[in-house]
Amino acid sequence: MRGDVLGRMNIAGELRDALRSDGLHVAYQPIVDLATGRIVALEALARWTNEAGEPMAPDVFIPVAEETGLIVALDGWVLDSAVAQVAAWRALRPAPAPLCVHVNVSPITFRTPGFADAVLACLERHDVHAADVLLEITETQMMGEDPPTLQAMEALHTAGIGVAIDDFGTGCSSLGYVRRKFVDVIKIDRSLITGLDSDPDQRRIAAALLAVVDAFGLTAVAEGVQTEAEVAALRQLGCRYGQGYLWGEARPAAELAVFRPEVV
Ligand code: C2E
Ligand code: CA
Ligand code: CA
Repeated sequence: MRGDVLGRMNIAGELRDALRSDGLHVAYQPIVDLATGRIVALEALARWTNEAGEPMAPDVFIPVAEETGLIVALDGWVLDSAVAQVAAWRALRPAPAPLCVHVNVSPITFRTPGFADAVLACLERHDVHAADVLLEITETQMMGEDPPTLQAMEALHTAGIGVAIDDFGTGCSSLGYVRRKFVDVIKIDRSLITGLDSDPDQRRIAAALLAVVDAFGLTAVAEGVQTEAEVAALRQLGCRYGQGYLWGEARPAAELAVFRPEVV
């Protein structure tokens, strides 16, 4: 237990230094149209290699960042990097097909006073349109009908910035946000997608969630798609978009073929 606490304190200290010295980077994973295979968006994911040169998993450092409050700076840094990257892609000639970049925002960051204004200021600073960015907020830690979260969602929605509920189907508190129409995209958690083609119960749950998405006129993205059989099952159920290792892991911007000038 003591070692665990010390380990987390170490992570927090190193992460604080990494944030000060630009020691993190962002990798981008494609989100594709299941009918055509065309990339329609990219999800920005934080990547960090610690002082010992070991890559640290977000599942390890994001919870530490949330416990220590560092998450607000981390989310802000990832947002700024991703928006700067969008501006750089937009400046390419010939211009690549328009893509939306999804940025993860912790529920803790989302409810911070001034968050929506900071997002708008970031877009203005880089001269990027609201439609080019979408914010993903995780369902599991979302506080049910939290007034500061609702206010931020409304302000972002009014400004034309899309909001997605991430890991949908793992928590139980986000239907209120869906009902209030401040949400545009639902990302169906990987745990509900794996084995969808062979497990009838899994299929029933996915069908029910997709019916909710449809009833509210939202867009669904299936997470963690790894097989063509899952793609076929998702298409049968009417899910339009997917993301997963089937189309590739997250990669640094420079390695994304879609944005190399010679292929656009
Ligand atoms: P997430 O937002 O649900 O992101 C998707 C995660 O699933 C990523 O893990 C991605 O690499 C992984 N993944 C994608 N396709 C597949 C697949 O087919 N199979 C499997 N097994 N995994 C797949 P990653 O990058 O390790 O991130 C883990 C979580 O950390 C993210 O889950 C997100 O909740 C959080 N995270 C990452 N970057 C940020 C950030 O900048 N801010 C915040 N607040 N959270 C972040
Ligand atoms: Ca996400
Ligand atoms: Ca997710």
